[in-house]
Amino acid sequence: MYQRIRRPIVIFTALLFHLLLIFHLLFSPVIIVFASYKGIVNASFIAFIVILLLSLFFGRAYCSWFCPGCGVQELMSVFVRKKSKNSKALFIKYFIFAIWIGAIITGYFINGFRQIDLTYGMTDVSFERKIILTIGAIVIIVPLTAIFGQFASCKYVCWQAPFMIIGTKIRDYFKFSGLRLKAEAEKCRSCTICNLKCPMNIDVMASVKSQKMNNVECILCGNCIDSCKHKVIKFSIKK
Ligand code: SF4
Ligand code: SF4
Repeated sequence: MYQRIRRPIVIFTALLFHLLLIFHLLFSPVIIVFASYKGIVNASFIAFIVILLLSLFFGRAYCSWFCPGCGVQELMSVFVRKKSKNSKALFIKYFIFAIWIGAIITGYFINGFRQIDLTYGMTDVSFERKIILTIGAIVIIVPLTAIFGQFASCKYVCWQAPFMIIGTKIRDYFKFSGLRLKAEAEKCRSCTICNLKCPMNIDVMASVKSQKMNNVECILCGNCIDSCKHKVIKFSIKK
C-alpha cells in the first residue's frame, strides 16, 4: 500500500534533482564547507537544519520518501537484487559525518555568521560544473550499490543519515511522539517475508519478536508493513 505512494515520490524526486542538475544545490557537502569559511548561511545550511528538525518527528522517513540519492538506489534495486550487509562498514558514515561537520563548525566558529545568502554557490555555477557535481553523486551511489548491494550508499557513506539518526535518538531519549514502527509480536507467524522485503537488510522479524522496532538503519519505507500478510507491523506516532 505505502509503496504505491512512496516509490513514485522518491523516484520523481531523484529524476527532478538529477535532470534539472540541482542535486548539489541543497545537498552538496562541499558548498556548505566553503560557505562556513566565509561566514555565510547558505541554502544547504538551512536544508540540513530542516532535515535534522524533521527527524525529531519523522525519524529517517525523509531517506526513503524524498531523498534524491535514495531514489537512485530505488531505481537500481530493480536490477540489483543483492542485499548490502550490516557490517562494520555501517560506521564509515559516522567518520565521514564527523570530519565534515567538524570542518563546518570550525568554519563558522572562526568566521561567525556574517550574512545569509541562500543563493551562495547556486547562481555562479557553470553548466559544466553542475554536470560534474551531479555526476559526482551518481559516481558514488551507483558503484557502491552495484558492488555492495541495495541501499549501500545510504548505509555506508551518506553524510545526511547521521543527522537523522541523531534526531531520532534525541526523540527516543526524550520519548517524544513521532513516526515509528510498532509491532504486535503475538500475531507474527515467523514467515520472514518482512526480512526479505526490507531494503536495509534489517532482521525485522527479530525486531518484532524482541519488540525493538527502533533500529537506527530503518528508513521507515513501509516495505515490511506492506509485505506482512498478518498485519503485524504498522506505522504509529505514539511513544
Ligand atoms: S512478515 Fe509478518 S508474520 Fe512474517 S515474520 Fe514478518 S512480522 Fe512475522
Ligand atoms: S524495517 Fe521496515 S520500514 Fe524499516 S527499512 Fe526495513 S522495511 Fe523499511
